[in-house]
Amino acid sequence: MSDAVPAPSAAQHAQTLEDFQANLAAVRRRIALAEQRAGRPAGSVRLLPVSKTVPEDRLRLAVAAGMDFLGENKVQEAARKAENLADIPGLKFSVIGHLQTNKAKYVARFAHEFQALDNLRQATALQRRLEAEDRTLDVFVQVNTSAEESKFGLEPAATAAFINELPAFDRLKVRGLMTLAIFSADTERVRSCFVTLRELRDRLRQDAPEGIGLEELSMGMSGDFELAITEGATVVRVGQAVFGARALPDSHYWPGFAG
Ligand SMILES: *Cc1c(COP(=O)(O)O)cnc(C)c1O
Repeated sequence: MSDAVPAPSAAQHAQTLEDFQANLAAVRRRIALAEQRAGRPAGSVRLLPVSKTVPEDRLRLAVAAGMDFLGENKVQEAARKAENLADIPGLKFSVIGHLQTNKAKYVARFAHEFQALDNLRQATALQRRLEAEDRTLDVFVQVNTSAEESKFGLEPAATAAFINELPAFDRLKVRGLMTLAIFSADTERVRSCFVTLRELRDRLRQDAPEGIGLEELSMGMSGDFELAITEGATVVRVGQAVFGARALPDSHYWPGFAG
């Protein structure tokens, strides 16, 4: 499925400032329409442009076009970009892919947000490194809503117990849940991943520990963000619809993901 990567949802390969402005405006318009159709307030969904594989020179144009918070899937690539773009005031990075514990130090140093928290060893490593840097980090707990498809993310049934442990990590500011939906042309199967995440969040929110925020739902990508908005997404992670098609299939970026 994911071999067919340049989905119809991918934009033209953006090269110039005008390309980036046009792609960004088009995605923002689609988000606004989806909010409206879902009867949700305008501006209730944050667009996180996902810039993996996009080199720094093109990212400077993306920033000039108005993107100031970029999602990256791989820690080392993100760290390199954060360093090479450190002269841009206010530019922030969100790490949205799996994190090996031994790379927690990089995330603690440069990232503003981490969306793939799914085990306590990660939380422990991040807490220690954030203390050393005297920083805090916004985090999303990643949930596996596609059962057989992904090897990352907590099982929905294990999420409550995990979240109950998180108040011990005071450098981690828990904002909500994140998921990757199943790769399928079957809209109803994709939708059911989004519904699973929303219903889980609604249940967990009822007795979330003190200080644990569960307002945010990060779900939806270029191919399915409108559906995710219908089902309650507050953050959509959109790469190809903003930057253009990537050369490699998604299985390259998500080892262990079927397809
Ligand atoms: C690459 C990526 C996205 C964005 O995918 P597109 O198809 O480019 O919109 C979203 N979430 C994660 C975790 C990713 O790695």
